Parts: sequence; C-alpha cells; structure tokens
Amino acid sequence: MKKLIVANWKMNPKAAKEALALLEEVKKEIRGIKEAEIIICPPAIWLQNLKPSAAIKMGAQNCHWEVSGAFTGEISAAMAAGAGAEYVILGHSERRQFMGETDEIVNLKIKAALKAKLKIILCVGEKIGEEMSAVVESQMSASLAGLSVNQMKEVVIAYEPVWAIGTGKACSPDDALSVGLFIRKTLTKLYSRFLAEKTPVLYGGSVNGQNCEAYISQSRLDGLLVGGASLDAKEFGQIAKKIS
Ligand code: PEP
Repeated sequence: MKKLIVANWKMNPKAAKEALALLEEVKKEIRGIKEAEIIICPPAIWLQNLKPSAAIKMGAQNCHWEVSGAFTGEISAAMAAGAGAEYVILGHSERRQFMGETDEIVNLKIKAALKAKLKIILCVGEKIGEEMSAVVESQMSASLAGLSVNQMKEVVIAYEPVWAIGTGKACSPDDALSVGLFIRKTLTKLYSRFLAEKTPVLYGGSVNGQNCEAYISQSRLDGLLVGGASLDAKEFGQIAKKIS
C-alpha cells in the first residue's frame, strides 16, 4: 500500500497567489516520488485554483452535513468535491475545540461526505491528561456509527493527540505504535480484523523532516498528517522523500 502524506494547510497561506506558489514549490520538491499518495488540503476557497495532478490529490479541511440550505458560511461536501477535493479531513481537534464539533456532528459529516464520493480522513486523539484508549475508542465508535463495511473502505483514521498538534512535542514512535495497534483493535471490535488491517492509520502532531521516518518504520503506520511543516515546501518534500 502506498504511504499517505496529508498536508493540512489550515488557514494558510494568506493569499491565493501564495497558495499557488506553495503548490508549485511542493510539486517540484516531490518530483519523482511514486511510492506515496500526497494529499494537499488548502483553505476551501482555493480548492478551485489549485489543480490536482498525477502526483498530488486535493482535500478539503471540513464540510457541512447538509446538502444545501440556510447554513451561512458553510460549504457542502458536494461543493468541496466539485471544487476538486477527493478527500476531506473531519473531526480535526481544532474544529472540535473552536467550533464545538461533537462526534455526532462528525458522524453526520462523514455520511454526507461519503454520499458526495469524498474519502474521509477522520481525526481522533486525546487531550493532555485524558486517557487515550477511552477517548479514541469513543470517538471512533460514535463517529463511525452506522457506516457499512463498504463505506469504511473510504475511511482513513488519523491519530492526532491534541497535545502534540502545533506544540513541537510529537508522540514517541513507541507510543504511536501502541495507539496504531489500539486503533486496529477497535476497528476489529467494530467491524472485523480484515477491515482493521485494510484501513490506513496515520499519525499527526508536530511531524517534521527529522522525526517522520520513525512513524513508518518503528510505529508501522500507513502515513502522516502534517500541519505546520506542510507550509514549508522543502521540509514537506523531505518528509515525502523519507517515507516513500
Ligand atoms: C494538524 O493540525 O493536523 C497537525 C498535525 O498540525 P502540526 O503538524 O502543526 O502539529
């Protein structure tokens, strides 16, 4: 299976011109890489400007659960797909923390996104002081409630401990290995061992060009979700080269 490398640009860069320039730089840096699937998730407003290529797929950072209607400021899953997104990040901790997203909302969004033929990158992870297993298991079971085995083929799980996001304090590869196994155990409970083995599990949280390799070789994960470091084309290129 190709390794997945997801770039979450969050609310960056500040202008469309800069976003286009960053994408061009990333394309140069990852030239020749064949063993990784690279997904760039820019702010939704630029999805239409930033064209996917053979080497780069596009993703949205969020979508609404309804198809249309009076939801000021929101975009639907079909709108994101129509603008070029093939993936959507859902359940990111920043949306849970600042936008009050609950697992029930994430569940509705996943179902809407699947209807619009988007692939899902579901983020789960505990805050500092919380018990990882309790949080991850309840986030997974509530967010994935009602999804069929067939629908699960379109789902990727990203373990993103909240305490590691944007802090420079990445999870140790050994701990990421244990969490990866725990996520597969939970998928086995919810679905089957077969599905648990087929579902890609990623790590995200302060990944950089120095620490990236260990999450693949030591933690045996299927890829990475990269925030801050994805805004530096050279560093992002280094991550992509090292893990592919
Ligand atoms: C993220 O926001 O998904 C993320 C992983 O951020 P960072 O890499 O900056 O910790």
